[in-house]
Order: sequence, then structure tokens, then C-alpha cells
Amino acid sequence: MEKKRDLWQRFSGYLVVAAGILLLIALVQVLGLNELAAAGEGSEATAVPPTIEPVSDAAAATAVTRTNNLPTAPLPVLHDNSLAPVPNPHTYQAQLPTHNFKIHVVTDFDTPNSIALQYGISADTIIGGNANISRESNLLQTGAELVILPVDGVLHTVKPGETLDSIAALYGVPVADIIGFPSNNLEVPFLRLIPDSQLVIPGASLGQFTFRAPKSVGNSGGTQQWAVVGTGAYIWPVSGRCLTNYYSGFHPGIDVSMAEGSPVYAADTGTVTYAAYAAGIYYDYGNLIVINHGNGYETFYAHLSGINVYPGQIVYQGDYIGATGNTGRSSGPHLHFEIRSNDYGQNPLNRLAGPVRSCS
Ligand SMILES: [Zn+2]
Repeated sequence: MEKKRDLWQRFSGYLVVAAGILLLIALVQVLGLNELAAAGEGSEATAVPPTIEPVSDAAAATAVTRTNNLPTAPLPVLHDNSLAPVPNPHTYQAQLPTHNFKIHVVTDFDTPNSIALQYGISADTIIGGNANISRESNLLQTGAELVILPVDGVLHTVKPGETLDSIAALYGVPVADIIGFPSNNLEVPFLRLIPDSQLVIPGASLGQFTFRAPKSVGNSGGTQQWAVVGTGAYIWPVSGRCLTNYYSGFHPGIDVSMAEGSPVYAADTGTVTYAAYAAGIYYDYGNLIVINHGNGYETFYAHLSGINVYPGQIVYQGDYIGATGNTGRSSGPHLHFEIRSNDYGQNPLNRLAGPVRSCS
């Protein structure tokens, strides 16, 4: 027993070495053959490099068989970072921002500009710090509490799936400016964003809510040539005349109270440039239709429950385009309607005929 084991132990080492040498020889032959084949593909005049050793017929046959069994295309390499483990999952916990903003309580005499002047920030930043209530409520109601940002910018609420890059791109500001704002509490190198937390975006602006339709919608660069041009006169997009919100510097349109599912009509002829749930800073608009009237004017129809048009579609004044609803940031079914001239909101009531009333 012991002698047998001794023998095995003594010779097993040689066997492994011998197997290794055989493998090496086979490998050299396969590679050599590939080089020969490659050389042959060029031209017959190309000389075979003299350093390659002649290959025996039997070995060549084996090698050819092996070569043919190899896959013709390189194997796919997976690059999926989402499968990578989270760095230090047990030792790192993202920190929430620790903002400590001033709060301004609106008085009877406040205007956006007077508040801005009082705190040394731009009127835009008052909107920027209060995006949650600016679009769908009367911001300057007496007693309303406004967040006053310490610098000009926007207070952004992080949504699931957002990244620093996507947020920076949304507002057109450098990522470094967001990281660099102290109370955002973003720690290099982790930079983990927590949904529903709020980040100060220095230098950003919600301004007039400039809308950029997706590039795919008829934007061929340069000046857009629209197939149809609006009449320049607008009809009411809904049958109701009861308003819950009027146009102001903080609310770029009117809110018309309407039962859920009421028909919405194109206020003028034009081309649909957006017809989907609103994205980015327009998230609050819910289901949104934008019509470009080809004359520098656009109309916006927000919070819809149904959309009956598609981007690129030409619609004519009075066409049924969708149904009123309560999607996005909305506290009851209504149509949020805007008329914009070259990105700037206009008071729709200056262009719509007939009396209106405030909802009681
Ligand atoms: Zn509104």
C-alpha cells in the first residue's frame, strides 16, 4: 500500500508536466495554423514566415477540426454595472440633506419682487424654492409660507431613478455646483441620492417654465417649419368658465374647474409637440398636451385624464384632443391652460372671449 502510494506520488508530478507540454504543443499548432490561413488569404505571393514550424498532416487535421468548432463571433462580454455590488453596503449610509431655510409668511402687501428684494434674491428664486405650490396654488395668498433659499436657485425634490447627472442636465447647471452646496450633504465618492429628499440647485431657475419638446418631434435643427399655422385667435378649450386660479407671475396659466373626463378642444390650429405624462420639472403637470401653433405661440393643456392625440399630429381649432382630469399635482379635476408666446406665459384671459367667474 505504502509503496504504491509512493510510486503514485513520485510519478503524478511527471504526468501533470507531460500533460501540460502536450497542451502547449496543441496550442502552438492551432495558432500557427491560424497564422498560415491568414497569410494565405492575402495573396499567394505572400511568403510564409520561415519561423513557423511545419505541421504534420494528422496534427493539421485535428487542428482544423478544432478551429472549425470555435465560435465564429467573439463571445459577448457582459457590462452591466447594475449587477455590481453596492460599495461597502454595511458601512455606508447616505445622509439626508440638512437644510435650514428661512420661511417668509406672505402679508397683504407682498409682491414677488418686494419679497425678493427683502431677502436679496431674485423673484425667480422664490418660485425656485417653492415649486411644490407655485404652479397650482395662489402663492401670494396672505398667510402662505414661502421657503426662502439662501442663494439663487431651485429647491429640487429627488424622484426615484434620478441621478446627479440627470438633475444637473435638467437645470443646465454643473454637477459640481450641486455637490458643492454644503447642506445638500452629498459625500464624495458615494453621492447617493435619496428619493423625496430636497437638494438646492444653485444657479438653476424654473423661471417661465421654458418648455422643450422632445427633439424627435419635428425638430430638424434651425428654424422649425410648421406644416400648419394657427389663426392667432383662441377659443375656450373647455366649456366651463369657473376659475380656481388666475394667471399671475407665479401661475403661468388659468385653472378651469371641470368635471373629470370633460372634453378638451384645441384652442387653435397647430401641431402637437407633446402628448404624454409630463417629465422633469413639468412632472406636476400630469398628463400634458402641448400644441405649437407655428406663429410663436403654444398652448398647454395639463392634468388630463385622457390624451387623444400624438406628437406630430396636426390638429385644427376645436378638435377634440383629450379629457380633463386630476393627474400630476392637482387638487381636484380641472384644466390648467396656458398660452405662451416664445416661451413666455401670457394671460389667457386677454385672448379668450367672454366673462369668467371665480369658483365659489
Ligand atoms: Zn394651474
